[in-house]
Amino acid sequence: MLAAMPPPSSTPPNQGEPRIEDPLGAVVREARTPDRDATGEPGRPAPVVRDRGDACPGALRLHTADDGRLARLRLPGGMLTNHQLDALATAAERYGDGHLGITSRGNAELRGLGDSCGAGLAELLRGAGLLPSERHERVRNIIASPLAGLDGLGHGDLRPWLRELDALLCGRDWTAALSGRFLFALDDGRGDVAGLGADVTLLAQPGGETAVVRVGASALRVAAADACRAALAAAHAFLATASAAGNGAWRVRELPPGCAVDLATALEHAGISASPATADVPPVSTPADIPDSATANTPAGPAIANASAASAAPGIVASPDGTYALVVVPVLGRVGARRLRALAGPAGEIRVTPWRGFVVPGFDERAARERLRELGDAGFITAPDSPWTGVGACTGRPGCAKALADVRRDALPGPGALPVYWSGCERRCGHPQGDWVDVTATADGHYTVAVRGAAAREVPVAEGELAEAVARARNGHT
Ligand code: SF4
Repeated sequence: MLAAMPPPSSTPPNQGEPRIEDPLGAVVREARTPDRDATGEPGRPAPVVRDRGDACPGALRLHTADDGRLARLRLPGGMLTNHQLDALATAAERYGDGHLGITSRGNAELRGLGDSCGAGLAELLRGAGLLPSERHERVRNIIASPLAGLDGLGHGDLRPWLRELDALLCGRDWTAALSGRFLFALDDGRGDVAGLGADVTLLAQPGGETAVVRVGASALRVAAADACRAALAAAHAFLATASAAGNGAWRVRELPPGCAVDLATALEHAGISASPATADVPPVSTPADIPDSATANTPAGPAIANASAASAAPGIVASPDGTYALVVVPVLGRVGARRLRALAGPAGEIRVTPWRGFVVPGFDERAARERLRELGDAGFITAPDSPWTGVGACTGRPGCAKALADVRRDALPGPGALPVYWSGCERRCGHPQGDWVDVTATADGHYTVAVRGAAAREVPVAEGELAEAVARARNGHT
């Protein structure tokens, strides 16, 4: 069983060796030679992909930015109670800049925090039940199908899995060795989060009796009752595999060739029966990571890895039980404390989506329409055809020292077939994948416009006609 497993050693930093920058910007260098490669022959040296400790911000480990300290709070499955929503609004008002950012993992970000806020912030979050384990606060990275159990699609309610997996993560010492970027995905079978590049994915299966657990290219079917223990066993096997590989991997995709996680053996050691998963297992993952950042595109953008994500598009969702849920999205992924409190719902539950939106369940039809109108009046995106749909921006000024412009002020709404992303410098942090329009600040106070992706091209910008250039690029005109 898992509790009897020896804790794996964490990935070593391997400091002191020469560095080589790889094309993706990660630091690569020669690591110690693995004993064997995939063929059983002596392996080639594995490149080290991480040579630093994990500096991911958390609720207790604050990151220093130009606009003050930054805290990132993990919300497993994006789940919040009304009380927790209010606590986050209070934290933003009392300690931060009055706003909450939503990340692409459905987590929450507070910015503009004062240097001495740590103890008070922790006490506030702890009192709201948002810090169940301080040792594990940065490893509670779980995304889940946000409409599970609400719209009649998928194969049921994921909340029992969420509670169990979170409790398992917080209840083991060794799980604290996972990176703050290691990600679990719980998919109710509709495939909306299974393609978002998680390290370990659980897929609910029809009938609710079984689940598919997937890590890397391996997928096996297990009993639904064993699913969370299977996910934890997969994570444990990853740590052991990464330690043996010696390349500092934080994510499954960072393991060197020939160092795959042996899922079958991991489940066997955990005492979990498994069988081949032969049907309907979505692709392993998107090639890109999901940045856990509060600055990126809104729901129409291609960070949505598949069409089923449209089920979390802004609007009203009807449930088979006769109730209705709202889906709303804050412009550019940030919401002020007062508007945040306006999301409190009749079911006492709010779900933050991996597309920076909120799901508020439990309305009757009339109340749903009324609340949606109110939230629209308050500035939320409430319909897919909003001019802000598909518009994203990085942090920019004043929060980022590298920024050449206040991109969140400059970003323009407008309809467009392609998503658009405004960047304060050429790093383009959190930009979308696929086809998108790139608007990047330049040192001379202007912006460049380009289409990225399959139809890549530069778009000329005449003096004073930035909006026109962006619109042309978004709608495929030259
Ligand atoms: S793209 Fe540049 S300006 Fe924007 S957050 Fe990244 S480093 Fe800062």
